[in-house]
Amino acid sequence: MNQTNFLIIGSGIAGLTAALKLSEKGSVVIATKSNLLESSSRYAQAGIAAVRNFRWDSFAEHFADTLTAGCGINNKAAVKFLVENAPKAVDWLTKLGVPFRKNPTREAAHSHSRVWNTRDSTGESIEKVLAAEVKKRKNIRILTNATLLDLAMEKKVCVGGILKTGKKIFVLASGQTILATGGFGQLYAKTTNPKVSVGDGIAAAYRAGAKLRDLEFVQFHPTALVGKQTRLTLLSESLRGEGAVLRNSRGERFLPAYHPAAELAPRDIVSRAIFEEMKNGKVYLDFTRADAKFLEARFPLIWKEVKKAGFNLAKDLIPIFPVAHYACGGVVTNLRSETNLKNLFAVGEVADTGIHGGNRLASNSLAEAVVFGLAVGKAGKVIEIKTAEAKIPNYVFDLQEDLKILPLVRNLMWKNVGIIREKRGLMAAQKTLQKLKPRSFVSKNAVTVGKLVVAAALRRKKSLGAHFRVD
Ligand SMILES: Cc1cc2nc3c(=O)[nH]c(=O)nc-3n(C[C@H](O)[C@H](O)[C@H](O)COP(=O)(O)OP(=O)(O)OC[C@H]3O[C@@H](n4cnc5c(N)ncnc54)[C@H](O)[C@@H]3O)c2cc1C
Repeated sequence: MNQTNFLIIGSGIAGLTAALKLSEKGSVVIATKSNLLESSSRYAQAGIAAVRNFRWDSFAEHFADTLTAGCGINNKAAVKFLVENAPKAVDWLTKLGVPFRKNPTREAAHSHSRVWNTRDSTGESIEKVLAAEVKKRKNIRILTNATLLDLAMEKKVCVGGILKTGKKIFVLASGQTILATGGFGQLYAKTTNPKVSVGDGIAAAYRAGAKLRDLEFVQFHPTALVGKQTRLTLLSESLRGEGAVLRNSRGERFLPAYHPAAELAPRDIVSRAIFEEMKNGKVYLDFTRADAKFLEARFPLIWKEVKKAGFNLAKDLIPIFPVAHYACGGVVTNLRSETNLKNLFAVGEVADTGIHGGNRLASNSLAEAVVFGLAVGKAGKVIEIKTAEAKIPNYVFDLQEDLKILPLVRNLMWKNVGIIREKRGLMAAQKTLQKLKPRSFVSKNAVTVGKLVVAAALRRKKSLGAHFRVD
């Protein structure tokens, strides 16, 4: 039957958490673009932030650190909800079987060690446990290689999703629909995000009339391993948390001159400092002070990836650059993850709870994905499913056009809507995007999201957090 009580789009940590909780109430369908594991969640390395030891840490400090990183424009009620519920989220994951290490680590801009991890592949550990649990539930149906094209709407009420599997396009009717489609890092030429992260959820929500916010705040991760792949390998902040430093082409440690917290300064500051130093040559991560045995045991994944690229983490300076990493903005939601459209929820990176404000505090996003996934589980209700046929538009899929348009958009966003922005570049990007009139659905989505990000960046004339304007 093409109907369900709850339709969840996306199988990252947010979607899987929501699915598990909602399956306690009714039938669930998870529709996901690739396989069940493919998502940004899967590649998360450092961990999930939560205060669980009150001898040296407190909710007040996690709250304050989040606001400092977010430049104070965060939604304070949402931040309070996050920090107070994050420990329960980690406990829930632990009970399900996620093998967190005994002691948390410290990451940039956190005043204490509160990042829970399974060494450097925390996202994958969580995804695997959640996916195994989801597969056990009889009332959860999983549709892989199923792409959401649009939300099925009746006036301002969401009644399901228009999905594509292979060549088949159909309406899946649902009582309530949960967008958990992640971010849009792949709209940038250089990113840590996987191919599925092109902002489909944002585009569909926009067409349906959902409120969007803060799209200009695209966080760049300072340290990706230099390479040419579509998804670049991240060198997690926890390397710097454990003592790695950054050096410029002259071999100098430059970050102390930019911020008192040096290597542990907020991400936007570190990214811009690197960008500045790169004007004079390459920038490197240096962890040669550490012992090879320690590095291989503590960072097994990174150790291997660095080796694959031809370097030795314990002996070499590792070339890095900042890349697009995380969308702080998205579909506006409240503490129950409800959007402004009836029966439509959004959770995880696609949502804008207001927690991150102008910039995300490291490791708050996995916490957000689980805390708000659980919140959707609580808020979701079994309601009447409207089976009325939504009209399916005439979609065009043209791979040749996508192969032309996507690189163009990705390069344009990287160059003109990247780490450093100015009016001229933003206007040029807007003009180019307006001129592009693709027919193909995939290209259309990319252009739509690109235009939305550029418009948001033009509206915010002053620099703030991840949005930095030189004019
Ligand atoms: C390399 C890397 C390292 C990171 N490290 C950390 C970390 O240590 N700590 C931390 O807190 N955060 C980290 N982050 C950020 C964090 O991983 C993400 O913000 C978070 O996992 C988002 O979860 P999500 O479930 O919202 O989205 P995702 O995990 O991105 O999942 C989105 C899902 O939606 C699906 N999807 C997309 N479009 C469609 C469509 N049209 N139809 C159907 N399905 C669709 C995708 O296939 C995917 O299954 C990292 C991110 C990356 C990329």
